[in-house]
Amino acid sequence: MILDSFSLQGKVAIVTGCNTGLGQGMAVGLASAGCDIVGVNQSEPAETKQKIEELGRKFIDVRADLSKTDDIPNIVDRSVTELGRIDVLVNNAGIIRRNDAIDFSEQDWDDVMNVNVKSVFFLSQAVAKQMIAQGEGGKIINIASMLSFQGGIRVPSYTASKSGVMGVTRLMANEWASHNINVNAIAPGYMATNNTDALRADEKRNKEIVDRIPAGRWGKPEDLAGPCVFLASAASDYVNGYTIAVDGGWLSR
Ligand code: NAP
Repeated sequence: MILDSFSLQGKVAIVTGCNTGLGQGMAVGLASAGCDIVGVNQSEPAETKQKIEELGRKFIDVRADLSKTDDIPNIVDRSVTELGRIDVLVNNAGIIRRNDAIDFSEQDWDDVMNVNVKSVFFLSQAVAKQMIAQGEGGKIINIASMLSFQGGIRVPSYTASKSGVMGVTRLMANEWASHNINVNAIAPGYMATNNTDALRADEKRNKEIVDRIPAGRWGKPEDLAGPCVFLASAASDYVNGYTIAVDGGWLSR
């Protein structure tokens, strides 16, 4: 039965940045499909923990600062010690800094690149080593952006980081496909979360954005749950190195 191939029963997924927003939407989606979740955040993910436990799944709360790579070994160790294995990694944690390119600071460049692409690569590397040792493959899902495809305005390091995420997704897929590890990305469109508070508060920009989205609305965290479960499951075993836009049609316009 085809729907069985979407089941994640008995699997373990690490989701970074799941205390809110898109990460929470995907963590809850994965748990609904049967996954236990290792949530990696700086702040307490109380609401996400509650939602996942209500679904009858386990939630392991791992605190880490992904602006540096020092905490990465502990994320893998806690997952394996407490849940026995890692089947899925969702690299969702991300930040954005806005300023004109002409005034953009080196700090705003480095901060964004460190969280959005450097830690994505090194956490993927650490998890891939564990998946290879387990010998049963795995699924890595990176969170890209419309700015993996487009230039954007006033977000130079964000555009660089998310373009980098799409590139490195392809590279990791090429190198690890032989271990049955699939590495794909989801590029969310304009989604209503903390990350876009400033844009939605600006009436003019908000109208410009909504008018350009064929679906006529901002995306919601739940909109990512289905694509995330698909990419985490056996249903997508022959999908590798691809970045799927979940954007209400934005890129088609
Ligand atoms: P959000 O509501 O601002 O959430 C960001 C998440 O990242 C939080 O859980 C945060 O956890 C975590 N995070 C940030 N810095 C971290 C650090 N140094 N160490 C560990 N965790 C850290 O943003 P969102 O909109 O849900 O975004 C999630 C992902 O989707 C990001 O990669 C973003 O770039 C991407 N995205 C968003 C949109 C959109 O329209 N919203 C569109 C395309 C792509 P703490 O609170 O604990 O720091």
